[in-house]
Amino acid sequence: MEKSRRKVYRLGVMGGTFDPIHYGHLVAAEMARTEFALEKVLFVPTGNPPHKSGRRVSPAALRYEMVKRSLADNPFFDISAVEIERSGPSFTVDTLRQLRREWPEHELYFITGTDALREIFFWHESEEILNLTHFIGASRPGFDAGDFLRKSESEKPQVIHRIHLLEVPALAISSTDIRARVAGGKSIRYLLPENVRQFIQENSLYLTKR
Ligand code: ATP
Ligand code: MG
Repeated sequence: MEKSRRKVYRLGVMGGTFDPIHYGHLVAAEMARTEFALEKVLFVPTGNPPHKSGRRVSPAALRYEMVKRSLADNPFFDISAVEIERSGPSFTVDTLRQLRREWPEHELYFITGTDALREIFFWHESEEILNLTHFIGASRPGFDAGDFLRKSESEKPQVIHRIHLLEVPALAISSTDIRARVAGGKSIRYLLPENVRQFIQENSLYLTKR
């Protein structure tokens, strides 16, 4: 009785390299927050992402600072350093375990774009991940999730109720494109918060193509 009356709190978790953070990330997180009644969304910049070892990722401290600046005006957004403080390769499953401990009253909702969502069954300890969290897959232009969902429904019926799709106003913005624009001397205004654009300029980030 007591238990069923207890309010269920939901914590959104937005993981990413954020090199740099942009409006695609922020819109996805905000729409997920309001549509799924998330109490807050924690942005978790990766430390040393194992899947991006082919490209030199900007130092974690700089990526962290850009995320922090972009969240300053939203009281429901916060940043977590759990991944950048962890040494060695960082896995989502470890982050979720830690957040579970830090937020024992909350159900976790991991927010991804549909490009990342389609890969989740290949993630390290994916079964455990789906025991720990729900997923919200925010639509991303060019990455349809229909096939993924149909396949999951037939092959993974036990977890499908934890995977949710969310249509967000389409933003075909990516960090890759922003880096290429800076390297090519093109404008990145209005693709990301102005204070992040200024930070990129002040710190001469992304000037060479990599
Ligand atoms: P990169 O081009 O370097 O991969 P990115 O723009 O994809 O950068 P990430 O840091 O890789 O950004 O993404 C973090 C999370 O945000 C992922 O789950 C990704 O799918 C999601 N995401 C990124 N951009 C968008 C977007 N425009 N719309 C919806 N989701 C997005
Ligand atoms: Mg990406």
